[in-house]
Amino acid sequence: MQNLIDGNVLKRWQDKFCSAANVYAYCVDSEGQLVTQMSGRQPDTEQIRRLIPKEGFEGIYRRVAEDGLEEQAVEDTAFPCLRLAAVSVKVSDSIKLIWIVCGVLKGLSGEEDGQASSPEPAYVYEYQVGEREFYSALDLLRDTMHTMLEIKYSMLDAKAEIRKVRYAEQEMNAALKRSETVAQIIKQLDNDKAIEKVLTDVLGILGSYLNISTAVICRIHKEKNSMSAAAMWQDKKRAAGLVLHQEISCPAILQTEKVTVLSSDRLLSEKEQEGMRLFGTKALIIIPIELQGMGTLCACFGESRRERRWQVENVKFLNDASRIIQDIVINRIRKNSLTGSFVTLETILDNVGSSIYVRDTETKEVLFANRNLKNNFKGELKDGSLDDILEWGMVKDARQGNYEIYHGERERWYDLYYTHMSWVDGRPVALFAIYDITDKKIYQKKIEQQAYTDFLTGLYNRFCCERDLADYIKNAEKSRKKGALLYLDLDDFKHINDGLGHQYGDILLKTLSLNLRNIKGVENTCYRVGGDEFIIIVPPSGYRNLERIIADIRKVFSKPWFLKDADYYCTMSMGVVEFPEEKESVHELIKKADIAMYEAKKLGKNRVARYSSRIGSTSNRRLDMEKNMRDAAADGYKEFVVYFQPIIDIQLPDTPCTGAEALVRWNSKELGFISPAEFIPLAEYLGLINPIGSHVLKEACIHCKAWNDKGHPNYKVNVNLSVVQLLQTDIVETIADTLRETGINPRNLTLEVTESLAINDMECMKEILGRIKKLGVRIALDDFGTGYSSLNHIREIPLDVIKVDQSFVQDLAMDAYSQSFIRMVAELADAIGVSICVEGIEEKEQYKVLEGMKVRLVQGFYFDKPMPGEEFEKKYVDSR
Ligand code: C2E
Ligand code: CA
Ligand code: CA
Repeated sequence: MQNLIDGNVLKRWQDKFCSAANVYAYCVDSEGQLVTQMSGRQPDTEQIRRLIPKEGFEGIYRRVAEDGLEEQAVEDTAFPCLRLAAVSVKVSDSIKLIWIVCGVLKGLSGEEDGQASSPEPAYVYEYQVGEREFYSALDLLRDTMHTMLEIKYSMLDAKAEIRKVRYAEQEMNAALKRSETVAQIIKQLDNDKAIEKVLTDVLGILGSYLNISTAVICRIHKEKNSMSAAAMWQDKKRAAGLVLHQEISCPAILQTEKVTVLSSDRLLSEKEQEGMRLFGTKALIIIPIELQGMGTLCACFGESRRERRWQVENVKFLNDASRIIQDIVINRIRKNSLTGSFVTLETILDNVGSSIYVRDTETKEVLFANRNLKNNFKGELKDGSLDDILEWGMVKDARQGNYEIYHGERERWYDLYYTHMSWVDGRPVALFAIYDITDKKIYQKKIEQQAYTDFLTGLYNRFCCERDLADYIKNAEKSRKKGALLYLDLDDFKHINDGLGHQYGDILLKTLSLNLRNIKGVENTCYRVGGDEFIIIVPPSGYRNLERIIADIRKVFSKPWFLKDADYYCTMSMGVVEFPEEKESVHELIKKADIAMYEAKKLGKNRVARYSSRIGSTSNRRLDMEKNMRDAAADGYKEFVVYFQPIIDIQLPDTPCTGAEALVRWNSKELGFISPAEFIPLAEYLGLINPIGSHVLKEACIHCKAWNDKGHPNYKVNVNLSVVQLLQTDIVETIADTLRETGINPRNLTLEVTESLAINDMECMKEILGRIKKLGVRIALDDFGTGYSSLNHIREIPLDVIKVDQSFVQDLAMDAYSQSFIRMVAELADAIGVSICVEGIEEKEQYKVLEGMKVRLVQGFYFDKPMPGEEFEKKYVDSR
């Protein structure tokens, strides 16, 4: 209110009014604040204030001010001549001013005053008014003031309006210019020009808009504490000391995270002055711009031409503009790295070995194809047949997957991987990677074939056998039909292999395999499962032919094989087991067949044995023996004890002992005492006969040497050699070593070999025996008369002794044939200078028959049993 109506102006008007209307008055505003002092002579106003208490004035004021209902109130005072009134003046219903008016009523003043109580002479007021005039004055005051105020206020409003309009116009222009400027800057957001040019343009736009002289964007290298100008705009001349891209040390004022505003009228700190000097400005605004981990910029705006005070809205505007600059730069960096990386990616993808393409999931458009794909699937890419050939295996709704593709036309295999993903522009695509795996496939097949084939014979191998057998068993169980498993083991194949040499063994195996594969019904079910072991599966479909198939197999082995200029017989032992019997596994079934086969071997080889539970239980013994034999072998062969049976010369008086045959016994701590007849075949089968035989040989030689040293220099020891031992390549060395180690006279060692070996490979045998004989050792042919008759060969082998088999002795007393056989052999032996030894003499009669024949040496229980070394020594060495 005060600033609306000048208090002094109002007072002057009030004074005039009061003197015209003969009243005393003062003015307060709607809040009760005094606007004008009371008009009138000072003694009068003082008199009035003295007579009317303060509460009187307040009361009348409140009547018009507070409820606003009364515009005018008149009250009598304690003095009849003094009348008090209040008048409110309103403009648009709100009280603007209130006048408190005091009238001294004419005629009443002097008398009343004097008469009443005051002893003082009557006071004479300057202004006195009649009652009617008093009320008129009040009306006049109100009306005049009302009009006056109304005019005043409307004038004021109009002025305000004009100012507002003008302000709004200015504001609008400024806003327009600002938004124009901003729009100009924003346009630079996706400008293709070099970033430096874009930034310079933005600085130019800002500089012109703000009418400044200098705008620079600095790149801050925090780690090096340096900076360089990345973009510069100048009104006229170059910013002092700044060269684009030149790296200089970074002034402290630029190393900030806050906006710095330096107006010309400000007192500057040292570092602020440094900043001003750098840009050559008199006023400066510095706004840091963070590039989200990709660096820091500083936007600097300055005025070098004159002093300048920055306005808040300009600072704000520059700050906003800097955010846009930030966006421009970050976008640009991203785009660059994106396009950069896309180009790099494309180069990489073009150089990978696989074919890669990307296809829009909806439109099916191929969005990307690498070089490999373009080369390899040119046609398919052109005629759009890619999805027919490649994408058939995609699983609906699967995010990714892979499958194998065979391209029939090209005869090639591919591995395809697919992934659904978002393309660069956000649309859903599928990415396909295709690898040519043809070579791998071919290789795999080869490997598989190799894995299932025995490369020597071309038959399937054990691996394949087990796989097939599992299938056959399953099928047989399902169809409730029977099949059979035949397990074949060649008899004495070792002899051929070791004797003739591996190349002949191989030839035999190959021819044999070919023959087996030609047997009707098992063409595809012949397997070589070991060196000389074969399995033939008779599938349920061919089971009714089982007997015929077995007969055909036997036929294969019934004829001799022509190897190295001679015929050789090679027999086999076969175990047969049927399936499915009691839900046995593949391995259990093979084991049963193997057990049956071994039974066939035990029964004398070259025969067929069928598996039965009886065989199964004896086979347990075999398995026990196998395990224990290996343990005993590992334990240094101590369990293998050598016994000695004396050999008697019946041609000399008193039939003296000439030495002994060494016979091994196995004193197993688990299985007890085991005779060689039981364990030697197994030892041969397991190959353990070699170390066991060497052990016996050494023991025998040690004992014999002891006898010789104890006064029986001509005592001889006979040691049995298994064919398996004899065919060892180092057998001659082994014997020579034993001779040397024990110091025995070679002439006192006789090695017994069995006749059967001589049949198959005479040449080889002759050669080995010849070398053994060269050591000075003597050779005995054991078990003569059993097996194939080979009298012809006797001459060819460098023999010293022929041992007639026990079987001839059994009926010797009564059997004329046995007698004449022994007699004839003895004659023959004598003729070629070979000794004869007859074994198994149990009775006197048998011994008596031999008298008169040319038989010198005998052995048998009639004379003595085999006995431990110490016993023999006691009986036959020490006592004589
Ligand atoms: P073999 O070489 O014919 O040995 C003679 C066998 O006849 C021995 O049986 C012996 O105890 C037994 N014998 C001796 N006199 C009589 C008799 O009057 N009546 C009867 N019925 N038998 C008699 P043994 O010791 O059980 O040996 C059996 C076979 O085991 C031997 O037959 C031999 O082929 C083999 N053998 C024994 N020791 C060895 C060895 O150290 N190495 C090798 N490779 N074979 C051995
Ligand atoms: Ca013997
Ligand atoms: Ca014998």
